[in-house]
Parts: sequence; C-alpha cells; structure tokens
Amino acid sequence: YKATRPDVMPTPRMLIFNEGLAVELGLNVVALNSSDGAKFFGGEIPEGGPQPLAQAYAGHQSANFTMLGDGRALLYGEHISPAAGRVDIPLKGAGQTAFSRRGDGRAALGPMLREYIISEAMHGLGIPTTRTLAVVGTGEDVYRQEIQQGAILVRVARSHLRVGTFEYAAAFHKGPDMVRELADYAIKRHHEDLVGTENKYVEFARRVIAAQVVLMTHWMRVGFVHGVMNTDNMAITGESIDFGPCAFMDRYDPSTVFSSIDRNGRYAFARQPEIAQWNLARFLETLLPLLHGDQHEGLRIANELVTSFMTDYSRAWLGMMRSKLGLIEAMDADERLINDLHSQMRTSGLDYNNTFLALTRSLGSEAPFPEDLRTWVPAWRDRVRAQPDGENAALAVMRRSNPVYIPRNHFVEEALTAADTRGDFETILNLTEILRDPYVGRSGMERYEEPLPAEAGPYRTFCGT
Ligand code: AMP
Ligand code: MG
Repeated sequence: YKATRPDVMPTPRMLIFNEGLAVELGLNVVALNSSDGAKFFGGEIPEGGPQPLAQAYAGHQSANFTMLGDGRALLYGEHISPAAGRVDIPLKGAGQTAFSRRGDGRAALGPMLREYIISEAMHGLGIPTTRTLAVVGTGEDVYRQEIQQGAILVRVARSHLRVGTFEYAAAFHKGPDMVRELADYAIKRHHEDLVGTENKYVEFARRVIAAQVVLMTHWMRVGFVHGVMNTDNMAITGESIDFGPCAFMDRYDPSTVFSSIDRNGRYAFARQPEIAQWNLARFLETLLPLLHGDQHEGLRIANELVTSFMTDYSRAWLGMMRSKLGLIEAMDADERLINDLHSQMRTSGLDYNNTFLALTRSLGSEAPFPEDLRTWVPAWRDRVRAQPDGENAALAVMRRSNPVYIPRNHFVEEALTAADTRGDFETILNLTEILRDPYVGRSGMERYEEPLPAEAGPYRTFCGT
C-alpha cells in the first residue's frame, strides 16, 4: 500500500446517507449526516483523524494479468463495532493514487448512486455484499463521455482482500513470504479460530471457496449478472463487490450479458459459477507453497479444492432451485423437473424472477400461473401436494426464496435520471425502501414488479470508470 491523502473536494454535500447502516455499525448518525460529515468524507481530515492508504493489488481482467491497485479508492479507515466487528471504510472517487495509471481517480455521481441502489438491494435480498454508507457530491465536474457531476462513495466492507491481492503478493514479491504474511493476516482477520491450527492454509482456502459457493448460488437465485468478475473484483470474504456494469436478468436466457465491454460473453449469467471457479484457481495458485511442503502434494490438494468448488456449487444450486419450487425433501426426479422448467422459460422467453413469483402465488390461491407453463405445472403441483403439509410448507420456503422486487433495470435508470438530471433523490429513496424488504409484496407498488417491455430493446450497462 501507499499512504495517500484524499483530495479535498471544493463543495462536498451529503446526497445519500444510509442511516440504517450507520446505526448497525454504531456510528454517530447526527455527527456524520451533516455538513461536517460531508467535509470529512469529502477529504478534509481533522486533527488526529485517519491515515488513509491506497491498497496494492493485481488481477486477471478478462483473463489477462495486470497490476492494478486502488486507482480511485482509498482505505479511509477501519471501524470496529460490537455488532459488525471490524470493517473497512474506503472512499471511492477521492482522487488519484500511486495506482491510478492514467485514470483521474474520480467517480461520477450516476454510477455511485447505482452502487448504492444495487448494494442495498443485494443486502435486502439476503446476499452477502459490500454496503454503501454514503454518497457525497463533490461539487467537481468529472469528464467521461460527457461532463458529469463528481461524487464519492463511502463503502463498507468486511475487508478488501481480493483474489487479486494474493496475486499481487505472489507475483511481485520474491518467495512465498509475502503470500504467507497476507494469508496469516486474512486468517487472523476473518477466520480467527484457525490461528495456530494445523493445515490452516488448506482450511482457509476451503472457507474462501465455500463463501464463493454461497455467493454464486445467491446470484443465480435472483438472476444477478455481475458483469466484471475479474479476479480483482472477487473478495475473499465472499461479499459481492464492485457494482459497475452489473444488472438483473429479466427474460430468462443463460447467455445474458449487459456490460457493453463483455463482447465474448465471458461473464454471462450462466457462466458465473465457472468463472468463480477459474478465479479460485488463480487464488489457489498463489497459495500453492503454503498448502503443503511437498510441491506435488500441494498441487494435488489445490486440484482437489478447485474441483470441490463445482461439486459443492452444483449441489447448492440444486438445493436452491428446490427451495424456489417449494420442494422440501430431495427426490431424484427433481432435477428433471427443474431442467424442464428452465428449458420452458427459455423457449418462451419468460421473466426469470416473475416466473417463480407467479408459481409462488399460484399456490393456495387462484392466481394464474404463466400460460406457457401449462404442460409443466401439473407435474410440479402433484409433487408439491404429495409432500407432508403440501402447499403450505412449499409456500413458506418459496416466499423466502423468490423475491417480489428486484432492482429492475428501467426503475434503476428512472431513479438515477431523476437524481442526476433534476436533483430529485425521492425516487431513489422510494426504490431502495422497497428493495430493502423485497420478499413482501406491497399494494400500490405493483409497477415495480414489471419487467422492461421487450420493445425497449436490450439493456446495456457501462463501467462508468
Ligand atoms: P474496476 O473495473 O472498477 O474494477 O477497476 C479496475 C481498475 O481500474 C482498478 O484498479 C481501479 O482502481 C481502476 N480505476 C477505475 N476507474 C478509475 C479512475 N477513474 N481513475 C483511476 N483508476 C481507476
Ligand atoms: Mg474493481
């Protein structure tokens, strides 16, 4: 890392302050949600204040290895609270660092607000994620394809240890010492129970893998497409991080891609687990010397671990799909039923989330199910009814697995446009309010269930960097 001070912004203004999160973290809401708070996050460090630093990391971007690092972010400080433990509090968009390469170190308001909406939505959906504490307007112009308003995002994360941090340590430092030091630090910070145990590095690797199994299963559950699953954007904690070009899939299509730069579909919806595995292989490569004193044995362990990811993920995915369909006890025929549903959704171009929502609602009520599923539904219903406590048991688990609201692309855009062009933040606040509790339908909010009409054409996202 390099100690780095943020730029002092000319006219910092608190645009979004996440009071709920601040309370969870035991922060002083009144002191922070103020003009002094805006100045503090806008780079004015008080006497005896934090000593920020820019972290070094590397990473495989679209499979190409590069030196990266915090180019427009700074670790402002850490915060420890009884409820949340130790968290990183970085500023994103606070100025150039030693790792900025040719970038301006700045962030534009639109993409930072987008990160706020999506991270709140992920949290509401029950998915491990980095959070957004605040978005501060800087009063500066930022130059992208056009002139935009500058902003700083104040993020909260359990840490910023990425696969790319390990790759940096392995690639740019001679010998395994740096990786060992980093792994020891990660173990102490995130898996303290492993300190001093035998085989702690193997167990550490196992836990990092397990966290990714959980994360991928969640993403696939709600139709989330991250868009830039580079190794530098994969946190070893298993929190979702870096919400640049991500978006939620509407029509079910495994090849869904939103990012304008993902031309080969490397990060398409259905490829995400495979990419997670690829990234984990890069992670394990850095740990090779630590896994075992004997090189061949180390390799054998690493191979076994990489393979275990996909085995565990497949099992978790199946369990997740069973929950989405209210199938409580596993049966051999389930896989067939689940696959048939997916082919049917694909052929008919059905909305992914709304299909599961409609199936949920069709239980215990007269709500109609999608007409395209008429040949599929009877077998599913018979299966559900044959279980003990049939529809009731199914309904309970389906309601927890199938959200009513996801941050649908056109509503995200609507809210961003209102804020960015008219200074109207109400729309964002209303949207995030609904997304915080996404499994409960609200009357009068039905429009938020609607997908973008197909006539609107494909949705495209941009990194905004
Ligand atoms: P990302 O695509 O956001 O994961 O960013 C990839 C790399 O580019 C990271 O090292 C970022 O810090 C860096 N980066 C992105 N945008 C900027 C910017 N405007 N100025 C400097 N560095 C940037
Ligand atoms: Mg990144």
